[in-house]
Amino acid sequence: MSEERGLACEARLNLRNLPLYIDRISDRLQSFDADASQDGQRLDFRFAFGGASLDMERLVMRANAADRDGLARIKDLLATAVQVYAREEKPEIVWTGDLADETGLAQFREMVVTDVHDLTPHMRRIRFAGEDLSRFAKFGGMHIRMLFPTREVPDPLWPMLGSNGLPVWPSDDRRPVARVYTIRALDVANGIIDVDFLIHPGDSVGAHWAIHATAGMKIGIMGPVGRPVRPASWYLMGADETGLPALARMLEILPAETKGVAFVEIADDSERQVIDNATGIELHWLPRNGVPAGLDARLARAILSVSWPTGSAFGWFAAEAAAARIVREHWRGTLALGRNETLAAAYWRRGAAGLMAG
Ligand SMILES: Cc1cc2nc3c(=O)[nH]c(=O)nc-3n(C[C@H](O)[C@H](O)[C@H](O)COP(=O)(O)OP(=O)(O)OC[C@H]3O[C@@H](n4cnc5c(N)ncnc54)[C@H](O)[C@@H]3O)c2cc1C
Repeated sequence: MSEERGLACEARLNLRNLPLYIDRISDRLQSFDADASQDGQRLDFRFAFGGASLDMERLVMRANAADRDGLARIKDLLATAVQVYAREEKPEIVWTGDLADETGLAQFREMVVTDVHDLTPHMRRIRFAGEDLSRFAKFGGMHIRMLFPTREVPDPLWPMLGSNGLPVWPSDDRRPVARVYTIRALDVANGIIDVDFLIHPGDSVGAHWAIHATAGMKIGIMGPVGRPVRPASWYLMGADETGLPALARMLEILPAETKGVAFVEIADDSERQVIDNATGIELHWLPRNGVPAGLDARLARAILSVSWPTGSAFGWFAAEAAAARIVREHWRGTLALGRNETLAAAYWRRGAAGLMAG
């Protein structure tokens, strides 16, 4: 297919019940900042990095983008949405067209540890070096899926690209274990990312790896993942230590005139960090002072105590699942705010391992 109009591909959708899932598929695609429109039986989605369509009459989905990264991203968004919502029909997706024969996974990079240091008693910053990291500054996602070696699989194989546009994983005896982390800082020109690991109690993969990390160790990363945060002039933010890297990154990059209030739950005052807050958002630290993480209600209470303003506002919350549920129910239920005004995410669940790694 010609270079002038960029890259394009399509896949047949052999689904008997597509109309049953189409609203949820469309909703998910729109949540990644797509403008949606309908032309007869065809739904079109325009992202900043390309376009997608779902033709319900011909049962075909199409993707187009100016470059390889954009096309891979759109194929991944479409294929993931179909796999998730049409799961009961076990969809078999096979892309044809540009880059259909690629086996390299556009969203994957192998990274090498170059530095490890402690920011606070329980927050360890690890610096990684890798090649061609520009895609991690695209698509509005701040997070990555980190692929770790474990005691059982000390020498994992990395995933490849399947013909459905999704990763193909090696067999269990060579498969790395995935956990989701935030890119705390990204330096594309020098090929560097920083990730802040909370060293938490319990038998773990990510925290365990971080405790033993030394320069030269290798891991895989995939991404970026996550939905873009909507622009607003006022923000209400809440995070525990796991959401702190994302919250801190936002405070560093949002426009100076941005106003609002942010609460960060930490174990105690020794976990406070210096954040280069470029905004007018007021930052408050909430120490648990002995109460275990995930059992303290003060972060959710602090969020619920703030009145929602009129005008352009966004609520962002990232913490343990129970707190996230309280905040989501308040924002979406009690206050009836929409998804384009709030994002309340569970970053971990007390007693459950690897929950958010998908
Ligand atoms: C989008 C996103 C971004 C994230 N960004 C970061 C980040 O930048 N830094 C970061 O440290 N975490 C981050 N997290 C949270 C992290 O993915 C989870 O804490 C994950 O469970 C850590 O994996 P693990 O292997 O260390 O522990 P797991 O093997 O998943 O869990 C082992 C045990 O530890 C418990 N546990 C897990 N997390 C915590 C915790 N925070 N406090 C106490 N107990 C815990 C579990 O309940 C379980 O009992 C993020 C999560 C998401 C969804």
